[in-house]
Amino acid sequence: MAVAEAVKLTCPTCGQANRVPVARLAEGPKCGVCGKTLVDGLVAELDASTHDKVTRGDGMPVLVDYWAPWCGPCRMMAPEFAKAARALAPAVRLMKLNTEDHPEISGRAGIRGIPALILYKGGREVARLAGARPAADIIAFARQHGAG
Ligand code: ZN
Repeated sequence: MAVAEAVKLTCPTCGQANRVPVARLAEGPKCGVCGKTLVDGLVAELDASTHDKVTRGDGMPVLVDYWAPWCGPCRMMAPEFAKAARALAPAVRLMKLNTEDHPEISGRAGIRGIPALILYKGGREVARLAGARPAADIIAFARQHGAG
């Protein structure tokens, strides 16, 4: 009998690392600690701690939107990013980080302008995309780099 393949998914709400069988990714798996749905096609909000866990250790691709409330183009892109999150589920998780609240994170990532998107796979950055983009561009970007 084959061993079921599982991936590690960090819960963006509580930070718990969950192991989820690959076969169950499309069934709305929930966090074992807080009950939050881990793969739901919605954009989850990260803080410094969950950002590092998700981008460094998760078994599924993660696309992070680095934004700030004062940034007009960021706010304009938000509904497009949400659309892309639904389209890319359950293969990619889309999340956002408020760079005004967490400047140390965007500084470390070398982000000079926002919005900026960074795609992470296997615990490392694989590609980034700068500037506000429509959903179609965001989806194409993820797929072009082997996610979704
Ligand atoms: Zn949780």
